[in-house]
Amino acid sequence: MKQSEVVDLIKLIDRTYKTDYAGDEEIVKDWFKVLKQYDFNDMTDSLEYYMTNYTDYPPKVYNLTKGYQTIESKKILDHAKTRCIFCNKEIDFTDEEHVNKCRSIEFIKSAVRRFKNQDIDKERYLKMSKEEFQKYYNASIDLVINNSTNEREVNMWKKYKENL
Ligand SMILES: [Zn+2]
Repeated sequence: MKQSEVVDLIKLIDRTYKTDYAGDEEIVKDWFKVLKQYDFNDMTDSLEYYMTNYTDYPPKVYNLTKGYQTIESKKILDHAKTRCIFCNKEIDFTDEEHVNKCRSIEFIKSAVRRFKNQDIDKERYLKMSKEEFQKYYNASIDLVINNSTNEREVNMWKKYKENL
């Protein structure tokens, strides 16, 4: 954000908390040094949140930036791609849903291979709706519970089902 925007925020703080930050050149300089890396709208939201929750003391600059990404790191995160550790497809860095689904597909695959000696079509599972997928996932858990000779494994999945 621009220096004039920082001054606007500081003036708002002064009006709310009866401070005189805007009249202190050092404070304006220090705040600008940090806040120039952040988005004006983010910091406005953050200040509004602070003002409605903490009415006794004016915010420190870190109260505003806490939990927000700088403009620079936002750009990096927005475009960040990674590869799914299970299927190796390129996915958004933040796509946890895909990774969780792939992890479950790996489980189904190994259960079907172990107890039915068959291979599964992973693509088919990836395309399934959540509900349909859950049905197959639960069936694979039953497959393990009913066929595995590993007592610990069976008990773990039984517990998992109890907690569903
Ligand atoms: Zn994947």
